[in-house]
Amino acid sequence: MADLFIIGGGINGCGIARDAAGRGLSVVLAEQGDLAQATSSASTKLFHGGLRYLEYFEFRLVREALEERETLLTAMPHISWPMRFVLPYHADMRFEGDTPTGRLLGMVMPWMKGRRPAWLIRLGLFLYDTLGGRKILPATRNLDLTRDPAGRALQERFKHGYEYSDCWVEDAKLVSLNARDAALRGAQIMTRTKVTAVERQADHWRITTEGGHLYRARALVNAGGPWVEDIIRNVARIDTTEGVRLVRGSHIVTRRLYDHDRCYFFQGSDGRIIFAIPYEQDFTLIGTTDKDHKASPSEARCSEEERDYLCAFASQYFARPVTAADVVWSYSGVRPLYNDGASSATAATRDYVLRLDQAGAPLLNVFGGKITTYRRLAESALAKLQPFFPQARPKWTARVALPGGDFPTDGVAALTAALKAAYPFLSDYWAARLIRAYGREAAVLLGQARTAGDLGQDFGATLTEAEVRWLMAHEFARRAEDVVWRRTKLGLRLSAEQIAALDEFMMRATSGVGHV
Ligand SMILES: Cc1cc2nc3c(=O)[nH]c(=O)nc-3n(C[C@H](O)[C@H](O)[C@H](O)COP(=O)(O)OP(=O)(O)OC[C@H]3O[C@@H](n4cnc5c(N)ncnc54)[C@H](O)[C@@H]3O)c2cc1C
Repeated sequence: MADLFIIGGGINGCGIARDAAGRGLSVVLAEQGDLAQATSSASTKLFHGGLRYLEYFEFRLVREALEERETLLTAMPHISWPMRFVLPYHADMRFEGDTPTGRLLGMVMPWMKGRRPAWLIRLGLFLYDTLGGRKILPATRNLDLTRDPAGRALQERFKHGYEYSDCWVEDAKLVSLNARDAALRGAQIMTRTKVTAVERQADHWRITTEGGHLYRARALVNAGGPWVEDIIRNVARIDTTEGVRLVRGSHIVTRRLYDHDRCYFFQGSDGRIIFAIPYEQDFTLIGTTDKDHKASPSEARCSEEERDYLCAFASQYFARPVTAADVVWSYSGVRPLYNDGASSATAATRDYVLRLDQAGAPLLNVFGGKITTYRRLAESALAKLQPFFPQARPKWTARVALPGGDFPTDGVAALTAALKAAYPFLSDYWAARLIRAYGREAAVLLGQARTAGDLGQDFGATLTEAEVRWLMAHEFARRAEDVVWRRTKLGLRLSAEQIAALDEFMMRATSGVGHV
């Protein structure tokens, strides 16, 4: 019998699996599709405090997330890196009125009518700089957009702005590396394994997966993300008053819109914000939307209306308008927000809520959360389960490197140069891509190769058989989409025919692979 059975292979399930396995618990995790197939590959991909949550006075959430940025950056300098965000300021910009800040300003400065004075923005950025004990990331600075290169891509009316720090993270890689690390510490990770029924006994759970396989575990963790409520009601058959509010967020990807490496934070006339972020070297990522989602979570798609909204929003800032014709790809995900009865999708809390149900063997339900707080969420989950597992070792994950991430936070350039020197057949792009995906393990993946041909079949865009086999053996990839849209983003560069050929190769190879 296992100690913990975890339903859901998103960031929260895999983060809890890694933490628990490292404390010496026996862990089994079941994911109905591929790891990170749902919300955890559809985020904006930021380790961030959430500047806009300051408007809601969510200080605890913002502080915890800000503190986490540098802890996480240290543990994974390959898949996460610092980013600078340019916030162009204009006195006429509108902010959401229905926030604690908006209401307060409405009382003391009623003439502002949804606008924010520059000093308030600067105060918010000062708080953002100082709340989380920042050590690695540079501080906020003022920008003269008439001189700074960041101003060139913008309309002339933006003359002044601010620049602050947050971090990027490859969200889906974060999940597969947590799963890999959990497996290295003894966890059993099962993908394409749907949990169809769970049955509570006095001191354990009986768990049935599709195909009728049976598992037993002392405690059950429901990390089903957008399906968390469905799992409580329809898989565990427990009545509940708690639930999730499903809020869809879509992103569009265009060819690169500007020629520097900073991001933009745009405040819209409707009071919402979006980001424009340099993406995969040749592209720009723009998002997100905020729409209540009534359909199944697996049916999240970026609608034409959302695409046009994002184009129009960005066009309020960029000198050259962004049109639907610029869009090369889009993706969409559903935020599983804890249903706290908040009035709008934008205002619903982004904080996580853990509920322990002890009417028999323990069941821990995970609601909400952010990529940024996944490690802290896992620690809190294990703290709640501690009384049932007195033998579990104490918390340990802070700053402990994920696979391949055991190098300094500013070490990527040196590691890339060393990889190129050792494998001279790699192009600059190829070497950089491998270091960003595998860190110090890139050299292990390449092994004794002396030529590109030594890496086996070439699937296009620098993807080789050696890399695909590595992803199948160590990161639970089974189908082409796992490789081209989650373990990498090479789907942006490969044709439909190339992806089909890869899928055929992987289907043939699947029968003969093991994990770890
Ligand atoms: C548009 C958008 C932008 C975001 N941007 C950011 C950001 O920039 N920074 C940040 O910190 N956070 C961000 N977030 C939040 C973050 O992405 C989510 O909080 C996080 O990914 C949730 O992870 P999860 O593991 O709870 O859910 P998921 O990733 O959805 O995982 C749940 C998993 O459970 C599986 N599952 C469900 N039912 C079963 C079953 N019966 N059997 C087996 N498996 C099952 C599903 O297949 C799924 O893979 C964003 C979210 C969205 C939607």
